[in-house]
Amino acid sequence: MHQLHGTLGGRDMLFMTPTVLKNLFSKSSTRMYPVEVREPYERYRGELFNNIDECIFCKKCEIKCPSQCITVTKDKDSGTGTWICDPFACVYCSICVDECPTQSLYMKPVHRAPSAQRDMIEQVGKLKPPKKKKAAKK
Ligand code: SF4
Ligand code: SF4
Repeated sequence: MHQLHGTLGGRDMLFMTPTVLKNLFSKSSTRMYPVEVREPYERYRGELFNNIDECIFCKKCEIKCPSQCITVTKDKDSGTGTWICDPFACVYCSICVDECPTQSLYMKPVHRAPSAQRDMIEQVGKLKPPKKKKAAKK
């Protein structure tokens, strides 16, 4: 019978030694991240990016995002729009990418860098002029 409490006895050491030696000389099951980075799996969605020059600040991504981590605002006075995303709340579902009418949103199979702070991704772009309506045919 092995001891459950207190210090290890001689019989316990004898019992554990083969396992300790085996673990000591076998290949590690973990990686020294971020020194050793694992290649992403095929079809890994990865990180969300916005090509802000293509964004029309329509808010579709904000409305459809299940995590409510996107905020889109327009400032008509300055002629700019702002797209903000909280990467810590994002579940990388890709719904916003599917809904974006201009395909400005896309996902890249890369790992987001670790961070100790909850930084938001904030991008500012120019508002596009409204499309001119075609003149009605007479
Ligand atoms: S990223 Fe796409 S869906 Fe979101 S506001 Fe811009 S154009 Fe609209
Ligand atoms: S990937 Fe999903 S959770 Fe992340 S911002 Fe897009 S819709 Fe929201």
